[in-house]
Amino acid sequence: MARYRDAVCRLCRRERVKLMLKGERCLTAKCPIIKKRDVPGPQSRKRKQLSEHGVQLREKQKVKRFYGILEKQFRLYYHEATRLKGVAGDNLLRLLEIRLDNVVYRLGFGKSRAQARQFVSHGHIAVNGRKLTIPSYKVKVGDEITLTEQGKNIGNVKEIAEALKNEYIPEWLDLDVSNKKGKVVSLPLREHVEYPINEQLIIEHYSR
Ligand code: SF4
Repeated sequence: MARYRDAVCRLCRRERVKLMLKGERCLTAKCPIIKKRDVPGPQSRKRKQLSEHGVQLREKQKVKRFYGILEKQFRLYYHEATRLKGVAGDNLLRLLEIRLDNVVYRLGFGKSRAQARQFVSHGHIAVNGRKLTIPSYKVKVGDEITLTEQGKNIGNVKEIAEALKNEYIPEWLDLDVSNKKGKVVSLPLREHVEYPINEQLIIEHYSR
């Protein structure tokens, strides 16, 4: 599977927001975005005014990078979102949220979406008791997400167990911390995506 392999902090700098791509490090003062606020330099000078198209493009890039998805697949999500009933923007965000790698991250099994995706593709995650190695798998209501036997043996599983205790779990998921078992209790709604996203700009970008 193709994926971005360059320095991920560069993506945050480009979008000028914290995309939280490095797990715990993103919450520390080591985050270059935080540092940059303290150190004015050529990079911090006001950028030129973006055109309408530029604003839409940047929003699309931001969300694509936030979820760690490449252009081709992101465009497919847009097409699927417009075919589904309801508001296309809401559908798009739901499709992104219900990806297995995102759910694994949201449950706190991975420190970042990238790590969660690696856990899935390396066979550390099971859905309803069966190993599933497809990060883009769309979870369904009632699905149970657990660590496989192989997953329980990964080096930082103890760390994960500790982290789970403090994890904020969105309402549409349920977590049994002692058994490290997550469950999808409902499909995510727009208000469950707390990250600032203007999905309408993305829809406008693709529908041009
Ligand atoms: Fe982005 Fe995290 Fe790097 Fe900060 S530390 S720039 S939030 S990836």
